[in-house]
Amino acid sequence: MFAPYCPKHRSRVLLNVDDIVDLRREEAGLLVHFRCSCGYVGRWDPTQGLS
Ligand SMILES: [Zn+2]
Repeated sequence: MFAPYCPKHRSRVLLNVDDIVDLRREEAGLLVHFRCSCGYVGRWDPTQGLS
């Protein structure tokens, strides 16, 4: 599970691996593309969203 920020919810949302649409490695590290339950698709950086 992970908790990215969703601008539609205006808060962080709890998502699980089924909500990941893409996972790619970029220069800065790993980048997760997720789809929120509200339909919002965003990017989440695992190294910055753990707190
Ligand atoms: Zn949302």
